[in-house]
Amino acid sequence: SKTAYVRTKPHLNIGTMGHVDHGKTTLTAAITKVLSERSGGGTSYVAFDRIDRAPEEARRGITINIAHVEYETDTRHYAHVDMPGHADYVKNMVTGAAQLDGAILVVSALDGIMPQTAEHVLLARQVGVDHIVVALNKADAGDDELTDLVELEVRELLTAHGYGGDAAPVVRVSGLRALEGDPRWTASIEALLDAVDTYVPMPVRYVDAPFLMPVENVLTITGRGTVVTGAVERGTVRVGDRVEVLGAGTETVVTGLETFGRPMDRAQAGDNVALLLRGVARDAVRRGHVVAEPGSVVPRRRFTARVYVLSAREGGRATPVATGYRPQFYIRTADVVGAVDLGEAAVARPGDTVTMTVELGRDVPLEPGLGFAIREGGRTVGAGTVGEVL
Ligand code: GDP
Ligand code: MG
Repeated sequence: SKTAYVRTKPHLNIGTMGHVDHGKTTLTAAITKVLSERSGGGTSYVAFDRIDRAPEEARRGITINIAHVEYETDTRHYAHVDMPGHADYVKNMVTGAAQLDGAILVVSALDGIMPQTAEHVLLARQVGVDHIVVALNKADAGDDELTDLVELEVRELLTAHGYGGDAAPVVRVSGLRALEGDPRWTASIEALLDAVDTYVPMPVRYVDAPFLMPVENVLTITGRGTVVTGAVERGTVRVGDRVEVLGAGTETVVTGLETFGRPMDRAQAGDNVALLLRGVARDAVRRGHVVAEPGSVVPRRRFTARVYVLSAREGGRATPVATGYRPQFYIRTADVVGAVDLGEAAVARPGDTVTMTVELGRDVPLEPGLGFAIREGGRTVGAGTVGEVL
C-alpha cells in the first residue's frame, strides 16, 4: 500500500511563469532532478515529457492543462505548477486554480523580456502573488554583457508592476545543463532554490476558518467512487467529515483524502488534495463547484465590485464597456456569465478602474475581497475584487 503523507515541513505553492520556450518545463524537471539527488531529500525526479504532456490530464480529457509536481528543499515542501501554454496561465492564474504563494519567472537570457513575460507579471500582480524570483535561464548559451542587459530589463519590469525589482533575486541558471548533470549549472539550480526558500515567505493560512475547496477536476476511481481535486482555500478537512457540494446541491461524507497520490488523514488550507466523496455520481459534480463545510456559505449572484479594465496594450479591449455588457466571470474555478451595471458612469474605458454591480447567471459562493477575472472571446479583459454581496 501507499505510504501516507507526513507533514514534516511547511507547504507552499509555487510555479513557473514566463514566455513560451524560455525553458519553464525544462527548469521544472531540472529542479526535481537536482533535489532528488540531495541526500535525505523527499523528492522524486520528474522527467520533462511527464510534465509537458501532463499525461493524467490528457487521459481524463480535461483541458485545464496544469501539471503539478512536488518537491522538498531542506526546509519546505513545495507543490509546483507548470503550464504548457499562455492561455493556460491566464485561465489558471486569474481563476486562482493555481494558488501561487510565489512564482519563478523564467526569462531566457538569449531573448529577454517577451510579451508573455510581461503579461504573466501583470497577472501575478492582479491575483496577489507578492513574491517573484527570477530565473535568467539559458545562461549557458548567452554572453555576459547581453545577460546583464536582460537582468536590468527584468528588474525594471518588476519595479513597474510594484515588485521592487532591485531587491528581487535574479539567478542565472541553465535548466538544460543541470538536467544533463553539469556541476556548475546544477549549482545554479541550488542557488535558485535557496533564493525561493528565503525570498518567498510562508503565507498566512486560514486553517481555523470553515473548510472550503473549489473543485478543479473531477474523476472516477473504479470501485471507489467520485473524486474531486483542488487546492484547499481555507480550513481543514478529515476523512469522515460531512461536506456540502455547492453547485451540485448535495451533502456527503469524505471517505478518502490524498495528496500527490499519498493518503493523508487531515488536509489544510494551501494543500493540493483529492477528496473521495461517498455516493456522489460522477456527472453530478463539475469544475467550478465548491466543496465546503455544510451551511458555512450561501451561494449568491449579485455583488458590487471594483474592476480594472485592461488596456489594449495589456491584451484587453480596444473599446469601452457599457451597462448591459455580458462577459464571462471567472470566480475561483467557476466560469459563469454575468451582466454588468455601471450605474451613473454608464461606461468604462480600457485602462479605467471602476465600481460596478454584477448579476451572475447562477448562484456561486461569494464573499467580500474575493478576486475574479472577466473574460471575453478567450482573452482577459478585466480583473476585479468583490465588494459587497447583495
Ligand atoms: P517552456 O515553453 O518555457 O516550457 O520551454 P521548454 O522547457 O519547453 O524549453 C524550450 C526550449 O529551450 C527547448 O528546446 C529546451 O531544450 C531549450 N532550453 C530550455 N532550457 C535551456 C537552457 O537552460 N539552455 C539552453 N541552451 N536551452 C534550453
Ligand atoms: Mg512548457
